[in-house]
Amino acid sequence: MTLKQYINKFLLFFLLFSLSSQYAFGADQITDIRCWSAPAHTRVVLDIRGSHSYKKFTLTNPDRLVVDFKDTSISLSQNKIAVDDGFIKQIRFGNFKKDVLRIVFDLVQSTETKISAFSKLPGKTDRLVIEFFHPDLKELAEKKRVKIGSDLKHNKIIVIDPGHGGEDPGAIGPGGTMEKDVVLTFARSLKKIFDEKEGYQAFLTREGDYFIPLRDRIKIAGDYGADLFISVHVDSNHNRKLRGASVYCLSLKGASDEAARCLAEKENASDLIGGISFTQNDDLNFTLLDLALTNTINSSLRLGSLILREIKSVHPIKFDKPKQAGFRVLKTTEIPSVLVELGFVSNPDEERLLKQKKFQVNVSQAIVTASDQFLTR
Ligand SMILES: [Zn+2]
Repeated sequence: MTLKQYINKFLLFFLLFSLSSQYAFGADQITDIRCWSAPAHTRVVLDIRGSHSYKKFTLTNPDRLVVDFKDTSISLSQNKIAVDDGFIKQIRFGNFKKDVLRIVFDLVQSTETKISAFSKLPGKTDRLVIEFFHPDLKELAEKKRVKIGSDLKHNKIIVIDPGHGGEDPGAIGPGGTMEKDVVLTFARSLKKIFDEKEGYQAFLTREGDYFIPLRDRIKIAGDYGADLFISVHVDSNHNRKLRGASVYCLSLKGASDEAARCLAEKENASDLIGGISFTQNDDLNFTLLDLALTNTINSSLRLGSLILREIKSVHPIKFDKPKQAGFRVLKTTEIPSVLVELGFVSNPDEERLLKQKKFQVNVSQAIVTASDQFLTR
């Protein structure tokens, strides 16, 4: 083959390739379906490329939710996904007509649903999130928490919040460790040590791999009438050498520094990544003159300093005093609340350490000791 023939062949190949890829990208396509089951809701996430126009309707006998997509293909090898979480039996999909892709949710019983579209986040495609709500169960769970709280009113109640969950993995370490998993394991260890202490009872905001909106997490603590709220996270940085634990509190008048502001921004993005269509009304309107809030923040800062002092004896810390920024999960006028970053999952040594039982127990013990000092002082 001469060079000219070779170039011609290459150009032809290039032209065909670009035409075919144009065609493939021109049509709408669903590239993945993920399902996250919580005690009172199920959230189904569709990764979708294209305009994603859909039509939603319900069918009865048996109960089904149907979502039809026009001119859309699906790139999954199977044609159904078993869910069996007590609300959805399974999700089936296929071409209902030549140009209509139909997704059918076989339901255990009819339920409230909501579909929200989320545009691209870095490293993600556009997403459609289909939520199946069970308001009666949600209400029941709230009542149960209030009842437990009043039954235990002579105890100190601690609510531990494992950050992220479900669609929101949080930070991911070089070895693939996900923040949402490592903080859930840690939260269980922390709960166990609180529960073993006389006069203490701890509860978690989430017990599994699902996402709870940031505002709901602090509300759960309020239902229990919690004495303390501790949100547990792990840090991440492009500088893999960074390590150490840190503690953060709410600030109403700007962040302590740029790093704290960035961290709060990253943690506050959780709702969006987790598939929650956040509305302005969900946020509480605080003012700088709110005395109760100022007192609560001052208490939180005292608790944070004690936690750092105790952690320091078992694990390096980044700084001696808590830093402050506008963390949405910490917005409460009533409960001293801190956000603890246990260490850097981006540091390969700390990534390994975070998963070790000994580390989890030592740091848990430090947090329990500090909390006890704070509450009994
Ligand atoms: Zn986090």
